[in-house]
Amino acid sequence: MNDIINLDQKYVAGTYARFPINIVKGKGSIAYDENGEEYIDMGSGIAVNLFGYCDDTWKEAVISQLNEFQHTSNLYYTGPCAKLAEALCQKTGMKKVFFSNSGAEANECAIKAARKYACEHKGKEYTTIITLKNSFHGRTLTTLAATGQARFHELFQPLTPGFVHCHADDCEELIQLVKENHVAGIMIECVQGEGGVRALSEEFVSCIAKLAKEEDLIIIDDEVQAGNGRTGKLYAYMNYDLIPDVVTTAKGLGGGLPIGATMLGEKVQDIFKPGDNGSTFGGNPAVCAGALSNLNRLDEEMLAGVEKKSAYIFEKLSKADNVLAVSGMGLMIGIEPVSGSASDIAKECMKNHVLVLTAGGNKVRLLPPLNTPDELIEKAVEVIIDAFKKIASEQ
Ligand SMILES: *Cc1c(COP(=O)(O)O)cnc(C)c1O
Repeated sequence: MNDIINLDQKYVAGTYARFPINIVKGKGSIAYDENGEEYIDMGSGIAVNLFGYCDDTWKEAVISQLNEFQHTSNLYYTGPCAKLAEALCQKTGMKKVFFSNSGAEANECAIKAARKYACEHKGKEYTTIITLKNSFHGRTLTTLAATGQARFHELFQPLTPGFVHCHADDCEELIQLVKENHVAGIMIECVQGEGGVRALSEEFVSCIAKLAKEEDLIIIDDEVQAGNGRTGKLYAYMNYDLIPDVVTTAKGLGGGLPIGATMLGEKVQDIFKPGDNGSTFGGNPAVCAGALSNLNRLDEEMLAGVEKKSAYIFEKLSKADNVLAVSGMGLMIGIEPVSGSASDIAKECMKNHVLVLTAGGNKVRLLPPLNTPDELIEKAVEVIIDAFKKIASEQ
């Protein structure tokens, strides 16, 4: 293990504070390190491994496409890309899809759509996008500007101009910001992930919908993390009375291979003309074949399973020692300790062979594969409860 850790520390750019384990293999919700130790993975590679490691159905879809061809340019038509776009539109009511390779790119495309729409329908000064404080929208210079957390901004000025940040759930402030700026759109995560696993209030989402209608603003719903069944609905906005104009998703859709999807609703379905956007790898046939297989499995039964597992975790953890609050929706869960740091709790869980994540606001974050067997969830929850207790006793 030290060989790999040393190599990585010597040659891989130091952007990650990694846990000291070298994962060599995985099956379902279990990861194995190089010593053959097993871990229950309650993070899914940050909501990516939708059905866990090496899921057979997904793998079969990807491999059978790889046996046909792996890539061609976007100068030609390909089946998996067209079929995935059809499935996304039929399941959401969105009209068209642009494919890229990551969440940040999906959001870049959404921002371009909103700005082009505003430029054509309202005037070229209408460029501002309102996003929320504690949001997370990606790492490119534009999506960093969209991200409403100053700590990500400091060292990378100047960022793309035209973003202002509003407190989540503050309708008054939102109305004020729309008055004070030439606004093209409002970008939200219905359930904030990175920023602290917080679901927006229904009132605030209604406020956004009303304002957007009155002022002809494009609502961009970033479901890079919350989408694809994670919240117990196919997309998180379906938990609200909201029809976004643009929905972006990425992480779980590809099940472990890179994909970004920007779904365009009625208002912006024809906003892009040839040359307005593009991606060499976007719509890759092997990735899309796997994503289509994933999407088709997110049926009522799967989503009911997500709700049931979620209810169990909420119930157990809400009553546990040293737990102040449990937040989130479905299998996107944040747990805030009364005392101790979330990162110490995550380390303690790892020592006991359960992998968890953290999020802003000192939260332990759980994003397990949607089909994690109940026994493994029960085992992991026990370890997490003990870790909360242990870290409290050390304060
Ligand atoms: C992870 C994430 C992103 C960025 O996705 P990348 O694939 O890392 O570019 C954007 N928005 C949200 C809500 C995310 O959770």
